[in-house]
Amino acid sequence: METPNHSHDKQHFLLCPFMAQGHMIPMVDMARLFARRGVYVSFITTPLNASRVRPAIDPTSRRSNLPIRLVELPFPCVEAGLPEGSENIDVLPPSPDLFKRFLEATELLKQPLERFLSADRDYPPPTCVVSDFLLPWTLEVARGLGIPRMVFHGPCSYSLIVMESVRRYGLWDASNGPGEKMVAITDMPCRFEMKKRLLPVPLSGMGMADFEGRAVKAEVDSDGVVINSFDELEAKFTEAYEKLMGKKAYNMGPLFLCEGGVQAERGNKSSIDKDKCLSWLDSHEPGSVVYVSFGSLTWLGLKQAMEIGEALKGSGRPVVWVVKQRKGGSEEIESWVSQFGEGLDWLVIVGWAPQVAILSHKAVGGFVTHCGWNSTLEGLCAGVPMVTWPHFWEQFVNERLVVEVLKVGVGVGIDVQIGLREDALAGREEIGVALERVMGVGEEGEEMRRRVREIGEMAKKTMEVGGSSYVNMTMLIEDVKGYVKKENVVENA
Ligand code: UDP
Repeated sequence: METPNHSHDKQHFLLCPFMAQGHMIPMVDMARLFARRGVYVSFITTPLNASRVRPAIDPTSRRSNLPIRLVELPFPCVEAGLPEGSENIDVLPPSPDLFKRFLEATELLKQPLERFLSADRDYPPPTCVVSDFLLPWTLEVARGLGIPRMVFHGPCSYSLIVMESVRRYGLWDASNGPGEKMVAITDMPCRFEMKKRLLPVPLSGMGMADFEGRAVKAEVDSDGVVINSFDELEAKFTEAYEKLMGKKAYNMGPLFLCEGGVQAERGNKSSIDKDKCLSWLDSHEPGSVVYVSFGSLTWLGLKQAMEIGEALKGSGRPVVWVVKQRKGGSEEIESWVSQFGEGLDWLVIVGWAPQVAILSHKAVGGFVTHCGWNSTLEGLCAGVPMVTWPHFWEQFVNERLVVEVLKVGVGVGIDVQIGLREDALAGREEIGVALERVMGVGEEGEEMRRRVREIGEMAKKTMEVGGSSYVNMTMLIEDVKGYVKKENVVENA
C-alpha cells in the first residue's frame, strides 16, 4: 500500500454511498477507478455494509496497493426506530414508513463522520466529497471542509431528466389529472410522453417532501453531478440534463467496467460458486441461454413467478433464473421455482448471483430484467438484448430508453407500477412472445443483437485510456484541483 503523506497536492475523495445495493455497487467501482488514478479514497459506510463490500474494496483482502480504505461509522438503527441491523434498504421490510425513517436516520452519520475526519492523520486532507443525492447532509461536511461536493444519483441522464421534471413541475401531483393522462416532458431533447401513473414517483409523492427539499437544496448548492453512463450512449441527454440543472455532469461509466467487468464479488457474497455457474454456461451454445433477474429489491409474487416459469418452459430454452430471498416472504416461490425447474435445462440460483460474470458469458442470449439502471447497463455492455419488465421508480423510463431509443429490447407490456403484487401482471403469452422476438431467428432479433453488440463495443472503449469516460474522470479530478473555496456557510441546507 502506498504510504500516505500529507502533501497538499494529493487528492483525497470521500465517497458517501446511499445504503442500497443499486447505489453502493457502482460507488465501489467508482472508488477503485479513482484510486487507480492516484486519488486517495475513503469509502464512508456502516459496519454491515462494510462487511459486504470489503472483499471488493479492501486493499488487504484484495492484495492490491490502491490507496483506498473503508471508514465504518456506527448506524444507530434502534435509536432511529428501525429494526436492529437495518443498515441497508434490502434488509428493511417493504414499508414507506420504514423507508422514510431510514432516509432520515442516515443524517445521524454526519457527526461521526466529522469526528472521524477531525482526528484522522492517516490520509491527506479531503479534497472532494462524492455523495449520493439521498445524503444531503454531506453538503455541510463538504462546506465545513471548504471542498466541492459532487452528487451521484445512480440513473442515466435520460431518466434523470424525467425525474427532475416530474419533481420540478409537480407532474405527479393529484391536481395534474388521472393516472392514464399522457404527460409530456418538454426538457427532453426528443419527444417524450408517458402515462402519469408510470412516471417516477418523487419523494414528495411518498410523503417525504421535507427530505426531498433538503436533498434538492443540497444538490443545487453542489458543484457537479457524476453519472454512471457514457457520452457515446447518451451525450445529447446528458447535455440536456446539464442545461436543466445548470451544472456540469460527468459521464464516467460504465463504472462496473473498472476492472474489465470481470469481478465476481459484487454487492453480496454469491449464493453459487462462480466457476460452477460458468462451467454450466460453458456447456451451452452461444446465445442460447435466457438470464432472468430482477435486481436487489424487487420481489415477485407466486402467481407472477408461475407465469414466468410457464413462459420459460414453453420457450424450450436453457435458463438461469435468480430467485431473491426475503426473510419470511420468499420460501414459497423459492421452492416452487426449484421444483418446477427440476428435469429442465435450468440453473436456479436462490439468493445472490454473480450477474456481471453471467451476462458476459457468450452462452447468454437474452436478459429478462426489471430495468434497474445498473442491470440495464450491464446488459447493454455485455451485448445482450433485453426483455423488459419494469416494476417501479425510473425503471419505466429506462425501459423506454432500451426499447424505443436504443431499440435493443422488447417489453412484456407492464402498464402499472408495482411493489410486491400477488396478481399476475404479465401473462405467459406476452412473456413468451417478447422472448421469441428478442432471441428468435427473425430479422428483428438479428437487428437488436447487432445493435446491442455495437453498444457493448463502444462501452468498453469509453473506459480505456483516452476514452470519453476516462477523459471525463480526468476532467473531474482537474476541476477539483482548480476548485475555488466557497464560503464556509450553509444557509439551512
Ligand atoms: N446484482 C447481482 N446479483 C444479484 C442481483 C443483483 O450482482 O443476484 C447486482 C446487479 O448486477 C446490479 C445491482 O445488483 O449491479 C442491482 O442494481 P440495479 O440498478 O439493476 O437494480 P436495483 O437492485 O437497484 O433495483
